[in-house]
Amino acid sequence: MKITESKFYRDRCYINGEWITADSGETISVNNPATLEEIGTVPKCETAETKRAIEAANEAWPEWRAKSARQRSDILRKWFDLMIQNKEELAQMMTIEQGKPINESRGEIGYGASFVEWFSEEAKRVYGDTIPDPMTDRRIVVLKQPVGVVASITPWNFPNAMITRKCAPALAVGCPVVIKPASQTPFSALALAVLAEEAGFPKGTLNVITGKASAIGDELASNPIVRKLSFTGSTEIGKILLQKCSGTVKKVSMELGGHAPFIVFDDANIDDAVAGAMQSKFRNTGQTCVCANRIYVQEKVHEEFCKKFVDAVSKMKVGDGLNEENSSGPMIDEHSLSKVEEHVEDAVAYGAKVAIGGARHSLGLNFYQPTILTDVTPQAKITTEETFGPVAPIYKFKDEKQVIDLANNSPYGLASYFYSRDIGRIWRVAEALEYGMVGVNTGLTSKAEAPFGGVKESGLGREGSKYGIDDFIEIKYVNMCGLDK
Ligand code: ADP
Repeated sequence: MKITESKFYRDRCYINGEWITADSGETISVNNPATLEEIGTVPKCETAETKRAIEAANEAWPEWRAKSARQRSDILRKWFDLMIQNKEELAQMMTIEQGKPINESRGEIGYGASFVEWFSEEAKRVYGDTIPDPMTDRRIVVLKQPVGVVASITPWNFPNAMITRKCAPALAVGCPVVIKPASQTPFSALALAVLAEEAGFPKGTLNVITGKASAIGDELASNPIVRKLSFTGSTEIGKILLQKCSGTVKKVSMELGGHAPFIVFDDANIDDAVAGAMQSKFRNTGQTCVCANRIYVQEKVHEEFCKKFVDAVSKMKVGDGLNEENSSGPMIDEHSLSKVEEHVEDAVAYGAKVAIGGARHSLGLNFYQPTILTDVTPQAKITTEETFGPVAPIYKFKDEKQVIDLANNSPYGLASYFYSRDIGRIWRVAEALEYGMVGVNTGLTSKAEAPFGGVKESGLGREGSKYGIDDFIEIKYVNMCGLDK
């Protein structure tokens, strides 16, 4: 399939219900990371177009918030149905622009759509409160209202789900949205806009703008009309955006970097732990913020785990994600590839051993071999920095106390995982890990029903679950007085 032949292909931005080009007429070229070929272009918008998108959203706001929760729910539900009906074509588009194996793309469309379904249901359950007032002639009423125009800046690693996870709750409670997708993966975002239009969102309620990240990001973060910025991306850019948002005291949600510990205790089921490590580490070619970054294995089971893990990795097939047989795709670009290369070389220089992989793949281009390193040392960059690639560093540990200290020794606090069959240990370790999410006997925890988010420098706020809607709501307190007259 050629992406330009898809009925969802748009080489324009979607603002105020219209498909527009950049004022300058300039475009950005988008490449397939598996072949490096240009697959299409999108407008290179800047500040002026961003302002117009924000103003369009603001104009659409009164009508959108005035709809009943049921009406907004129905439109979201339609959007969900359309995503599911067109799953295969959306998945193909995603693999072409992002590179992940086609089965993972199918999985992501289902996962992304599940947030739309979930929040179409939650839209109807935004309950307020009444609180007894200390005075007999008064009542305290708590209303929940939409915050206003929401800006969302999203990354390339999950081109669909990172958008729906932010926009579905925002739209559900009555907020219009302006979406800035990553420049590497704009077509999945524009396809969502095509489906939103068909689902019946009024014009201006959902806008997608592509182009220069710094210009668009600056405007979204500083424009006083935007009341909430929801960002998923690196901690580095998150900190810049947080500072910029302070100028107008915006609400913010930040889903930032992670450095997940993955702990295998000696009472674990080792086969399960290997399966979990494969899933956690190599999904999306290691390019997720919840990927295992440090695999700690207890002494007694270290040898067995490493042997089985290497065996599983040796069966992986690397190549173009469109080929159903491949279980690992390309890295997103040369920049990411060279970071992986640098981390491996640095770890080896500090004494790590390459158990499998350890170099670029013979396919060339953006491909790197799935890699396992053992005997990794604390000084290696990979021990503290996010690699964002298919490299699994393994460390040996002695006891529970030691591994909890090691696991928590990080400025990040997003996902963590451990394997154990001991109920006492499971509670102790789950409570001790300073992470927003803990997977026990699993390498995959993300789902619409659960609150996704991090502590420390991994972020602010939660996405998904009943909590995910709170980030788009203002609480208003109304004191009803004089009721005795
Ligand atoms: P990644 O390493 O995953 O690309 P980034 O934090 O660089 O993470 O990018 C995530 C998103 O933030 C992308 O949509 C990117 O275009 C956007 N972005 C990058 N730089 C800026 C910036 N200075 N201001 C606003 N958004 C930015």
